[in-house]
Amino acid sequence: MKLAKRLLFDFAGLSAELRGSAKYPNSYLGFNFHAVSNDYLPHVANISSYLSANQFENCIEAICRDFKLVSRAEMAAFIAGEAPLPRGKAFFTFDDGLSVCLGPVLSVMEKREIPAVFFIPTDFLDNKSLFQRHAVSLIIGKAREVYRSDRTQFENALTRLGFSPKAITFSEFANRLSGCRNSVEIEAAREAFEVDTEAFLSRERPYLSAEQARSLSDHGFFAGAHSLDHSDLSALPREGVERQIIKSCEIIAGIVGSKPVPFAFPHSSLGLDRGHLAAIARKCNYVGPFFDSLSRFNPSPFGVPRFDIDPFAEFAEKKDFPQRIISYFDIITWRKRRFCDDNSRKKPSA
Ligand SMILES: [Zn+2]
Repeated sequence: MKLAKRLLFDFAGLSAELRGSAKYPNSYLGFNFHAVSNDYLPHVANISSYLSANQFENCIEAICRDFKLVSRAEMAAFIAGEAPLPRGKAFFTFDDGLSVCLGPVLSVMEKREIPAVFFIPTDFLDNKSLFQRHAVSLIIGKAREVYRSDRTQFENALTRLGFSPKAITFSEFANRLSGCRNSVEIEAAREAFEVDTEAFLSRERPYLSAEQARSLSDHGFFAGAHSLDHSDLSALPREGVERQIIKSCEIIAGIVGSKPVPFAFPHSSLGLDRGHLAAIARKCNYVGPFFDSLSRFNPSPFGVPRFDIDPFAEFAEKKDFPQRIISYFDIITWRKRRFCDDNSRKKPSA
């Protein structure tokens, strides 16, 4: 059983004692999504789970039932640097600028007048280029298709990539590719399995257009920046980090006509020099507040932390879904204390 799932089961019992905003007066309660769709999304499905429209609606309903929400005015004041973001209240964000969110998200969020921030990697706006991770998902999907329909063609493709076809299964190949960050290897796999990313971009239009980003505010939403091309910022030199943050915020500011622009780290702030990040924000008035991801690898996020919901899609229909999620992240953040408590309880009496 996956670690996340096991922890959720192990600690689901904590949920009863963790109900309601009042339990978290000092916490940020950001819930972050990537894709929401009832359809098979070939550019996402092979690298991540995502919520169906129904799961999303249930999830939003459960969070709205249990927590007070950050209002649009409160989020606007925070982004403008006029007031702190209220703690103990929930808010929603969407990363990666996927256009597929707009349908189900708009209908649910607008109906309930819930604000949200969409963080957009600006190189993908108007479907100018494909996010490398999304290309990986397309390649895995195509490789699976070839594997099922023509084993010889599949083995030939593996041979072209330097593998001994008898020594690697489809699952092993898919796992390897799924964890691959090397653009040369990914491009070689794309060629070997003849994936036409340009055709996919123009046919499917997976990303928001600049016009859609501009119109987000008409629906009570905010546009934020999510770097230029979703690079791993921790692998870049300092000038590269600066460029990714400042330039993407500048582009979003140009589109929406207002500044500062909130920025969410691609992946997370893990490995970045926090003094440097603070200096970037001070130096450039386009760069607004930072939003980060809370995870077991990044338990002390820089800026406003958010819980990534996509990995928990299958729990989204449970009534106590928000508490389960928060219990899980509580365990990450305060796991030392929790584990100490648990250990002391388990200690056999002398
Ligand atoms: Zn992202």
